[in-house]
Amino acid sequence: MAEANNLMEKIVSLCKRRGFVWQGSEIYGGLGAIYHFGPLGVEMKNAIKQLWWKTFVTGRPDVVGIEGAILMHPEVWKASGHISSFTDPLIECKDCHMRFRADHMEEGKFVGQGKAKEKMQCTGCGGKDWTSPKDFNLMFKTFVGTTEDSKSEIQLRPETAQSMFTDFKLVQESSRLKVPFGIAQIGKSFRNEITYGDFFFRMREFEIAELEYFVKPGDDEKWFNEWLEMWELFYWNLGIKKDNLSRYEHPKDSLSHYSKRTVDVMYKFPFGVSELAGVANRTDYDLSQHEKFSKKDLHYFDPETNEKFIPYVVEPTMGIERAMLACIVDGYSESDGTDGRESGEVVLRLDSRIAPIQVAVFPLVKKEKLPEIANQIRFDLTQAGIRSFYDESGSIGRRYRRQDETGTPWCVTVDFDSLQDETVTVRDRDTLKQERIKIADLASYFQKELIATQDKTEGAALVEKNK
Ligand SMILES: [Zn+2]
Repeated sequence: MAEANNLMEKIVSLCKRRGFVWQGSEIYGGLGAIYHFGPLGVEMKNAIKQLWWKTFVTGRPDVVGIEGAILMHPEVWKASGHISSFTDPLIECKDCHMRFRADHMEEGKFVGQGKAKEKMQCTGCGGKDWTSPKDFNLMFKTFVGTTEDSKSEIQLRPETAQSMFTDFKLVQESSRLKVPFGIAQIGKSFRNEITYGDFFFRMREFEIAELEYFVKPGDDEKWFNEWLEMWELFYWNLGIKKDNLSRYEHPKDSLSHYSKRTVDVMYKFPFGVSELAGVANRTDYDLSQHEKFSKKDLHYFDPETNEKFIPYVVEPTMGIERAMLACIVDGYSESDGTDGRESGEVVLRLDSRIAPIQVAVFPLVKKEKLPEIANQIRFDLTQAGIRSFYDESGSIGRRYRRQDETGTPWCVTVDFDSLQDETVTVRDRDTLKQERIKIADLASYFQKELIATQDKTEGAALVEKNK
């Protein structure tokens, strides 16, 4: 466990030092469970989102995307059941009034933190005297308009799913879709978590990628298995090691109010095996509820069988930041000194498609025309859609080390030979091989390498499946 904590500390430090992620509002002491994504973090997050969108939305004939609003009509959350049951059991220490999630306290999640030496012990004061559990609603509240009374009270969405249900008819009719089909969305969601920690694993403001797949009742179990498999393949496709992933089947008696079956995709983080994603069979619960509350017909008419029915919904969902954290943890390595690096040097082995910087371009020295040529290469690669970066400071060895630490798969060095033969050295992060490549061929060289990376992953089957 000490080793695991040590690894997380190193990752937290690396993320801050290199501009991936840090605590939000840090200069004011930070805001709990809120994180900011720095220059490299935002590039990596965007790359994961783009890969997801290409895989599951534009890459499929049966899925379309939408962008719903964070603020929705208050009736939505009554219909969805979130007002009455989106709660965690909260207990309060009678001595120091700190609050905890009762289930986390019972599991012993806080043992070793602060003054908690055993289960059911307060981290603040070591006390063991608790109030009885009280339901705490996890939705953030705000007000719409100029008055702050209960009539203007509104919630920040805790999931993106509901707009895909409320807009079901609008999407289906405008896009002339036939069941089975899916509506997808990536967007911010908010949960007022009571327990947090584990870096940016559990956040109060986070981005979620969700898909509601509408099927004929009776076809739901088949589609559930199909989506679970595709969801897992997506992580393999991101280059995450298969051995670090597992499934967790929710027991029947602990399922969410809307679910017939839920299976989570889990990752072996240093702080424990934790949830990355989930697939739920939401049945016809949501559409039926919205039909009841809105009094609008949300039945689907099947033109082939002339039947009218409320579709069942299979919902695969994943946290974007959790995928990012898993990729960083999975890719983190320290050299043992036998691979041509010095012992202890950090290499972040990110898949080249999601690395924040894909190619770093260096002039060997700041002399003659080398900086101009290197900067022109950076510009041309960027125009070709490759995330590129220019660096002229420090020795070449130092510049390589900095890029290894940020996960850059390729470095390009412009030297004096480049002036004569218009070639440059391309250095590969993983093999450390160096190759001379013509400047004019660089963009197509990297584009080919990026396609090859995809083909090499165990998730390459996902691309085949989508065809
Ligand atoms: Zn206490």
